[in-house]
Amino acid sequence: MGLINCSKHGDSGFAQRISASICEKIRNDLPVKNGDLKIISIDLYDGDEYLSTNRYLITENEFLDSGLNLCNDVMNEESYDLIKAKLPPMDGVCFNCLEDYKKKHSLDLLFFN
Ligand SMILES: [Zn+2]
Repeated sequence: MGLINCSKHGDSGFAQRISASICEKIRNDLPVKNGDLKIISIDLYDGDEYLSTNRYLITENEFLDSGLNLCNDVMNEESYDLIKAKLPPMDGVCFNCLEDYKKKHSLDLLFFN
């Protein structure tokens, strides 16, 4: 997690892998419903060895457009690039702003950030 200088929170953690359209809503404090959000998991492997899981927060519509599964196994860099190419434009926001937004709109983003 990198750092961001937030106008509200000062130096804060940077929550990444959030679609640009959702970041826009968080920055402008526009409402979003649990049902409009999807978390896509990408499990990275090197051969048989599990490396890590990256999660992406996108909207239901972006999920439907992407044609991706909710969970995706990735065995190499090449197939990761193919998946990333199907994701909507991604962005990031201040971690504390995301936490405030989650509380305010009662979002249940289990396992995200
Ligand atoms: Zn902030």
